[in-house]
Amino acid sequence: MPQQDPLIRKYNFEEVNQGLLVELATLEAERCLDCSSSPCIQGCPVGVKISEFIDLVRKKEFLKAAQKIREDNVLPAITGRVCPQEIQCEASCVLGKNFEPVAIGYLERFVADYEKNHGGVVLPQLEEPTGKKVAIIGSGPAGLSAAGDLALKGHSVTVYEALHELGGVLIYGIPEFRLPKSIVEDEINNLRRLGIQFETDIVVGKTVCISELMGEEGFDAVFIATGAGLPKFLNIPGEDLKGVYSANEFLTRVNLLKAYLFPDYDEPVYETEGKVVAVIGGGNTALDAIRTAVRLKASKSILIYRRTMTEMPARKEEIEHAEEEGVLFQFLTQPLEFLGDHNGVLKAIRCQRMSLGPPDSMGRKSPVPIPDSEFIQEIDLCIVALGNGANPMVQSSDSKLKVDPRGYIKVNEDSLQTSIPGVFAGGDVVTGGATVILAMGAGRRAARSIDKYLRSPTPTR
Ligand SMILES: Cc1cc2nc3c(=O)[nH]c(=O)nc-3n(C[C@H](O)[C@H](O)[C@H](O)COP(=O)(O)OP(=O)(O)OC[C@H]3O[C@@H](n4cnc5c(N)ncnc54)[C@H](O)[C@@H]3O)c2cc1C
Ligand code: SF4
Repeated sequence: MPQQDPLIRKYNFEEVNQGLLVELATLEAERCLDCSSSPCIQGCPVGVKISEFIDLVRKKEFLKAAQKIREDNVLPAITGRVCPQEIQCEASCVLGKNFEPVAIGYLERFVADYEKNHGGVVLPQLEEPTGKKVAIIGSGPAGLSAAGDLALKGHSVTVYEALHELGGVLIYGIPEFRLPKSIVEDEINNLRRLGIQFETDIVVGKTVCISELMGEEGFDAVFIATGAGLPKFLNIPGEDLKGVYSANEFLTRVNLLKAYLFPDYDEPVYETEGKVVAVIGGGNTALDAIRTAVRLKASKSILIYRRTMTEMPARKEEIEHAEEEGVLFQFLTQPLEFLGDHNGVLKAIRCQRMSLGPPDSMGRKSPVPIPDSEFIQEIDLCIVALGNGANPMVQSSDSKLKVDPRGYIKVNEDSLQTSIPGVFAGGDVVTGGATVILAMGAGRRAARSIDKYLRSPTPTR
């Protein structure tokens, strides 16, 4: 994958990976062994027909390859860029046993970009209008994919989004240097062409509630796809000091509100230029936050994680890119307290060294504190990236909507219907923080169930 030079890209927000050219893409496609069992397809959560699309790339039939992917995956330009392929499709590639697996993600991205640059997406024919109205709450990958499939089935679809821009994490979380906003905007414009209505700045649960949507607003079904955007904290002393951010707030300010262009954009972010910035965590969000700090010209960007690199849940490529950009990794370290000055401004973190003990319920080795190993780390800004809980607004506004003890919406596993008839839910608000492709897959499953529900002779409400 051609990339921007690390020494250049660490000072800009432009995309790091530049995309394959035709020659490189066809060469890569020729590496595919075209195995009869196609284990890669089982590795993809939505079953993209990988061997068929790669065969079309090999034959230089790129537009047909794009159509083949779109049969199962409506956001290929996005998943080709952000899917954790190394644990999904590429993990099952037979070549990977002895060599590098076929770069399925890079090829998927190549085909989607080629389609965009050569006439754009050919939209399928819409089915006859059904006269049924569906409300979708949330415009992340789950909401967008459900909206697309339902519109194709002839239903009238309105998407309600709390923020002023559409796209969910794709727009406010994942930075421009990994996923350019224009790619997400293109996909949303394709959905507009299907006749889908988008209403931004509407917080369902506050501005309008589900019973109103299903009542006076006249919707026949609702799909809740509000994601998991509620930040988790360490709950240690000093977490309220000035200079301690949640990753969500930091990334939203920079990505969505363009704080990196302040004062041209009227949105500040705490001064990072020439400062020591630490991010606590080991997932994609932590990597996105620390690489953003690098681009905001931090003098030192340190990722603090209580396990080691082997246990980091972040994508392998992001870890490699972060290393190339000069991020310092401080493993086996647990923060105990944030220390501030008399003005309440962060100055340091008191930390403890850890060792790895036996595996936890997920199979990851658990960190164990090393006695008498505390030390003070001087820090100007700290970003806490420990994952997120369910967005609670919709759940808290309707007592009939059943949730599990952690606040995630309970659904029937097959139909994704909630405890309220006609109301369905999917994506991170059901599963907890997962991946773009899993959220998209949930949106498509929900769309199938909603369509079936709306076409049943007596939809029960
Ligand atoms: C920083 C970051 C980096 C990530 N990187 C990757 C990656 O590289 N690869 C990958 O596969 N996954 C990644 N993920 C995870 C992935 O983005 C999510 O799993 C996915 O976006 C979930 O999709 P969703 O549609 O369920 O929810 P979201 O994308 O969270 O969208 C939910 C939407 O609902 C809106 N909403 C919430 N409450 C309301 C309300 N009451 N009324 C109206 N609207 C509401 C929100 O504003 C939001 O727009 C990352 C996540 C983060 C935070
Ligand atoms: S959607 Fe993701 S997992 Fe599936 S083939 Fe594409 S890159 Fe691989």
